[in-house]
Formats: sequence, C-alpha cells, structure tokens
Amino acid sequence: MQTARADTAAATTARAPLRAKPVLLYPFATPPAPGETLEVAPGVLWVRMTLPLALDHINLYLLEDHDGWWVVDTGMRGRTTQASWEAVFTAPALRGKPIKAIICTHCHPDHIGQAGWLSERWRAPLWMSAAEYYMGRVFCTSSSDGPIWEARDFYAKAGAPSEFLERIGKGSAGFSGMVEPMPRSFHRLAQGDHLLINGMRWEAVIGRGHSPEHLCLFQPEAGILLSGDQVIPLITSNVSVMAIEPEADPLADWLDSHRRFLRDLPDDVLVLPSHNTPFRGLHARLHYLIEHHEHHLLALEAACVEPCTAQELLPVIFRRALGSEQLGLAIGELIAHLHHLRALGLLHRQDSEDGLYRYVAADPLRAARLRDGLGPDDEDVLMDLAGQPV
Ligand SMILES: [Zn+2]
Ligand SMILES: [Zn+2]
Repeated sequence: MQTARADTAAATTARAPLRAKPVLLYPFATPPAPGETLEVAPGVLWVRMTLPLALDHINLYLLEDHDGWWVVDTGMRGRTTQASWEAVFTAPALRGKPIKAIICTHCHPDHIGQAGWLSERWRAPLWMSAAEYYMGRVFCTSSSDGPIWEARDFYAKAGAPSEFLERIGKGSAGFSGMVEPMPRSFHRLAQGDHLLINGMRWEAVIGRGHSPEHLCLFQPEAGILLSGDQVIPLITSNVSVMAIEPEADPLADWLDSHRRFLRDLPDDVLVLPSHNTPFRGLHARLHYLIEHHEHHLLALEAACVEPCTAQELLPVIFRRALGSEQLGLAIGELIAHLHHLRALGLLHRQDSEDGLYRYVAADPLRAARLRDGLGPDDEDVLMDLAGQPV
C-alpha cells in the first residue's frame, strides 16, 4: 500500500547540497573511566560502560533524588558491566544513597541489558515506555533456534548473499544472550508524562524510528535533554526495517520525530546522549540528520533508473565496506529508505519471477534533475545490534 505524504515529498525535493557537518560543542573533554562518575550538571552524573562491540561504549546517567538515585540505562549483560556498577555504587559522588529506580530509554541490549540485575539488586522499579518494555520482553523470549523462515524470506527478497542467508539463526544466543532476564513489571512513561526528581520536572519526550517508542527526558529549567539513541552527535542511529515487521516505514517515524524535536525542544540544551559524548548544538544536529536521510533518499531514487535489489543498492548509501556482521542492519537501513520512497510514491517495487524485490523510480528523471553531488556521506551508522534477524 502506498500513501502519498506531500509534506515529506516536498522536503525530499530540496535542492541544497548536504550542509557541512555542524560544529557542535563538547563541554567535557574526557569521559569518565568505567566505574567512575563525572558530574555534568548539579545532581546529574555521567557513567560510562564498555561494550563488546565495534561501538565500544555506552553512556549511562544517574539523577539524584532526595532519597536515592535514578539510573538512566544500564549497559549490556555480563560480569564486566556488573563490576563497573558495583564500583559506581561506592563512588563518593553517590554519597551513600541507594539506587531507587531504573529508567530505560529503549529496548536495545546495551540499554536494558542490566535492568533486571539492577532491579533485583536494589528492589528498584523499572520505568519505560510500553512499546519498548513489551518489545524487550518479546525479544528476550524469542529463541534463536525457533522458526526463522520469515527472516530468511525477508533477506532473500532483498538479494542478500546465500552465505548470509544460511547463517541466519545459527550459532547465536541472540538478544537474550545480551540481556539479563528483564524485570517482571514496569511503570509506564508516555509522551507528555513527567517525573519529579528532587523537585525537578523531567518531561518524557518520545521519539520513533530507531526503536518503537524511544524515551528521552527533558528538564527545562536546567536545560538538559537525556537523548538516548534518538540524538547522537557523531554517528547516525540505525533506522532499520526488520524481519519482525517486513513492510514497516520507520524512516517516516524517524523524520517526523526529528521535526517534532526541532519544534518542541530549545536549541540551547545540554544533550546527554547514550553514545559519543555530551554536546551542545541540538538543532544543528537535528537539521543535519534530517538532511542526511533526505540525501540518501534522493541518491537511491536516482540510482533506481533500472530496477535494482536492496543488496545492489548498498554502495549508494554505505561508502565503507560492510562486514558480514553488519550486513543485516545495513540491508534493514537501506530497505527503510526504499519503503519511505514507496510511501512517497517515488519508487515502485517489482515482485520479480526470481523471488527478488526490485525497485524502480516512478519518474526516473526526477532525482537526476535534482541530484546535486549526492552520495554517501562519511557518517557511521550506529550498529548496536538493534536488528536481530528474528
Ligand atoms: Zn539503540
Ligand atoms: Zn545504544
């Protein structure tokens, strides 16, 4: 089904070349070492944990209440993270106060991996958005040796190589291997809700596209945005179609969220992201991220003069070579752009006799007319295991 979205279609016709990467300000030169804390604002501590991934770290934050600390995100499953947490619990900056509650921005393993352990350790409740909590619970229980024909079908239609298709579902503990058993209950946070922490009002701001109902927290008086993976300064969050919902259009959600953030959030906030380091320059970053995807959309449309598979189109938006472990997320991100172009009425999908989906521009000359030095930029895409195949 195709739905015309005139507002976004107009945006994709923007002729301006991709603006130069904005200059963002990074007020903290050195991140805290694992197990240490760094105060980034009164009552707000920055903690960093290692990840066993190409993306080798995650930022976590602690918010001070009168009777304990609220933890924002938790790190990935494993003894290393737990040992770092134990060091944090005894850090002088915590002043001997307990952990009283856990907030998870979204359901990816680096964010919820230790929520269950922290919750048991402190008898502390979990706060999350509903869609993220339930998706996390579903991913935790899906077995890697369960039915996987849907995932094979999804990637086969994209034209993925046979070696990749054969590996799907094999030899991996999957999502549950990266996440401690999740807390059995949660407290819901939705758009417009707020938490009162030490008398300060932290407003829930929901973003979508990287994950279904990603929670950010905004504190207006102090000018702080806990942005999770929704806004990161140096890498672009992965926006993927996954086999669990093969016809989704997450890029529409992502672009809508960024435009809403531009409208609703001030530019002069200190942004506390889950990866890279805290920064200032929110609006410039949001503008850049919107343009980054709009240029990828236009470049893909221009490339589809002849019918192409998703696999064939990968070099259009990924300049660097992709390792086999990144291929699933890369194909997912590429299909997200193709689905959005279909929703805009700019691309048609052909169900070919050889079983492959091929994409062709509705007006093969439109993108070429608009094309102005388009191609992949040098920004890395966040590959944080968001896209488990099933
Ligand atoms: Zn994520
Ligand atoms: Zn992340």
